[in-house]
This record gives sequence, C-alpha cells and structure tokens, in this order.
Amino acid sequence: MNETVELTLPALEVPDHRVETPAGAIRVPGIRLPEKRVSVDAALVAKLIDHAREAARLAHAPHSDFHVGAAIIMADDPYATIFSAANIENSSYGVTVCGERNALFAAASKGFRRVRYLALSTVDALDAPLSERSPCGACRQAIREFTEHDVAIDEALILIDTGDPGVLCDVMDIQRLLPHGFTFAG
Ligand SMILES: [Zn+2]
Repeated sequence: MNETVELTLPALEVPDHRVETPAGAIRVPGIRLPEKRVSVDAALVAKLIDHAREAARLAHAPHSDFHVGAAIIMADDPYATIFSAANIENSSYGVTVCGERNALFAAASKGFRRVRYLALSTVDALDAPLSERSPCGACRQAIREFTEHDVAIDEALILIDTGDPGVLCDVMDIQRLLPHGFTFAG
C-alpha cells in the first residue's frame, strides 16, 4: 500500500531589521525560507523511528544516562540502506560523539552524500519539549554538510521521535533547524 503523503513545511519570512546609531548601523538579519512541499513515505518513517529507538538501546552513555539513536537513509543510495547508530560517550567528555553524527558518518563513509531521511530518538525524553529531542548544534552543522543547499530542492527531512500518543514523529528540514548554518564558499 502506498503510504506516501504530502506535507507543507511552513514559510519563515522575517525581514532584516536595521537601526542607525551614531556609531554605525546595527543589523538584525531576517530569514527568508519559502513554503516547501515535501513527500513522506509514512511506512518508511515508522520503520526508521523504530530503528532509531532500537539503536538507542546500544548507546554507550554511562556519564549522561541519555540514550540517543539515529537511523538514516541517503538520497543517493540506490539500495536505500538504513544506517543506524547511537551516542558513544567517553570518560574524556569531549571525545563523545552523538548518535546522529555516528550514523551520518557511517553513511558518508560508504560514499553517500545526500540525506533523505534522518530519524532520531531520545528514548529517555520522548515527552520532553522539541528542543530536548532535537539534534545538537554540532549535529545540525554536520547534517547540513550532507544536504542540498538549495532550499527549494532539498529533500532531506529530519524525523524527531515523540512520546505524543498517536503521533509518528515531528518533521523538520535542516533550513528550519539551522537557518544560518555555516557554509564554506571556498
Ligand atoms: Zn549532536
């Protein structure tokens, strides 16, 4: 059964704001993201969320006791392989790597470069606000590296697990998670 559904990611349109001062102008950058229509395979989304939850069970999290799993399918992988991973902590805290990056780098290490779906599950905090179930800043930047930078054609979706009964996940894209992410123009 075809369970593909169309979703609309909302437009974010906030103009720049500029204030003149005797010392010079101060500018507050706005955001211009057009509304975006995306298609989602609901059955596959459910499967990826399950994989992310399962991956979280294997987290090495003795320091935070915060278990996170991620499951990724890359758009340029003809076999739609599911890459899953968990957060792996370390006694030297800075060495810790999040589940999202562990899964993403496993996919990238196989030569794939464009995210289609990235599901993550903070299994210990599914009832928490979105900010406590979302990727950290470092992971957002890492995800952005492997998405289209053209906001109109980017097909990468971030699927965030939720404890809300009957809700499969929250869906966002990287532009809405990281509106002014760094790009090295070279
Ligand atoms: Zn992270």
